[in-house]
Amino acid sequence: SSFAHFGFDEQLMHQIRKSEYTQPTPIQCQGVPVALSGRDMIGIAKTGSGKTAAFIWPMLIHIMDQKELEPGDGPIAVIVCPTRELCQQIHAECKRFGKAYNLRSVAVYGGGSMWEQAKALQEGAEIVVCTPGRLIDHVKKKATNLQRVSYLVFDEADRMFDMGFVSSFPILMILVFSHVFLEYATFRKKIEKLARDILIDPIRVVQ
Ligand code: AMP
Repeated sequence: SSFAHFGFDEQLMHQIRKSEYTQPTPIQCQGVPVALSGRDMIGIAKTGSGKTAAFIWPMLIHIMDQKELEPGDGPIAVIVCPTRELCQQIHAECKRFGKAYNLRSVAVYGGGSMWEQAKALQEGAEIVVCTPGRLIDHVKKKATNLQRVSYLVFDEADRMFDMGFVSSFPILMILVFSHVFLEYATFRKKIEKLARDILIDPIRVVQ
């Protein structure tokens, strides 16, 4: 398969070419069209499969379809992940590809400076990459709000235990990625429960 099938514009293709990716990976081939269609999705793919870009590229296009942020607006897209390292990695990819449209990303995770993160959130960003507890802290302190969030990703959802706050988001398109979905019964149960409770008729993409 080729990138041409996604119908990305020249600005985004330019950033992809700079990454020297020659063709989409299997999870990208399957996942990108689903995410572009606006359907909820459960993606099962290992680290190294290219799953991060599979949710970042459609996210950028989704953001560009929304009204621009006004002062005081919270993010349009939120990516929730279990660790600080993963937050930093995903944030770096958001910045790299977000350059296509001058989109801003902020990373907020436990262990980082509350004050610096709050300042970055208040300056405004279309994308927030976070660990769940820290995002909730910032929302409670009113450094940001979730009122404009319409694209939500749980990455490595099988490693997260605090996903109850999903109900704080108003309208949602939700993508859940996991890499142990098929292997571990308890994780599988947990994600199945999440799927039943919050996802609307999700499409499963298994790599
Ligand atoms: P991930 O599974 O998202 O952690 O990605 C693993 C690695 O694959 C990262 O270093 C990406 O930069 C890289 N990658 C993502 N998509 C592609 C692609 N289409 N072709 C080659 N490498 C890719």
